[in-house]
Amino acid sequence: MRYVVFECRKCGHNLYVENTEDLFKKIGRVSNYDCPACGEEPDGNWVLLGLKKEFPVQEGGAE
Ligand SMILES: [Zn+2]
Repeated sequence: MRYVVFECRKCGHNLYVENTEDLFKKIGRVSNYDCPACGEEPDGNWVLLGLKKEFPVQEGGAE
């Protein structure tokens, strides 16, 4: 499984989204998420970092 990774502009929290067939739907949901770490509002907050192959255990996920 690959993940699309977003980063919070404010605190650097990483958000992982599984790269599956409904990826675009999931990205639509990410654009409505407050940051779970610092509570920053979602508008323009999430920066696309890129693809990663593995989910790091210590990070929170989007699912
Ligand atoms: Zn944050």
